[in-house]
Amino acid sequence: MIKKVDHVGVAVNNLEEALKFYTEMLGLTLEGVEVVEDQKVKVAFLPVGDTEIELLESTDPEGPIAKYIEKKGEGIQHIAFRVDDIEKALEEMKRKGVRLIDEKPRYGAGGAKIAFLHPKSTYGVLVELSERK
Ligand code: ZN
Repeated sequence: MIKKVDHVGVAVNNLEEALKFYTEMLGLTLEGVEVVEDQKVKVAFLPVGDTEIELLESTDPEGPIAKYIEKKGEGIQHIAFRVDDIEKALEEMKRKGVRLIDEKPRYGAGGAKIAFLHPKSTYGVLVELSERK
């Protein structure tokens, strides 16, 4: 069901500053920046092999990324797994008793269909399922 690690989401206070590290120090290439209004977040994508680093800066002090940083500080916020059929994947997770944050997929950055699993069911990791065309 899971094809690969689609991306790793990293919460940062300042996207511009963090990007300097990822591009100038690590030598990664910035593929694009996008604001996802629904999640009150500005996202930068940096491909690494066939996966990506997703840097997340909150656009709102009440947004989920701002709250995450307030609680836990900057750092890895979620891991996203690529699936072929997100509705089917969610159904299967539910059937297996996994707690879901999103019962139905919503649209994330890059037009991907995404849904989050609850960290209580995943040993503390916020897991995102992602279906992209
Ligand atoms: Zn993500």
